[in-house]
Amino acid sequence: MPLAYVDSLGLCEHCQTLLSLESMPGDAINGDWKCPSCKGILTHRSFGYESEQGHKVQWVGPRKKWLSRKPQKDFRIGKLEVAVSRPMVFW
Ligand SMILES: [Zn+2]
Repeated sequence: MPLAYVDSLGLCEHCQTLLSLESMPGDAINGDWKCPSCKGILTHRSFGYESEQGHKVQWVGPRKKWLSRKPQKDFRIGKLEVAVSRPMVFW
């Protein structure tokens, strides 16, 4: 069962395709990221960030729509299980 974290999800700013940060190359949002569906250039907006260095201000919700608050419970989008928090990491 595919698993994603709500903090990593986004919606393409051009075509609304569901995106995940984990499926993007590298770990910084930059001009080289393209939507796998429409090939549009993705910016911070597709991942719900207020600016390139800014805070996350929108989260993808259960209906594949932007929410202005982070969801508090795990949910599903189709076959994708979306978790609201990552597993704890112990050092
Ligand atoms: Zn797209």
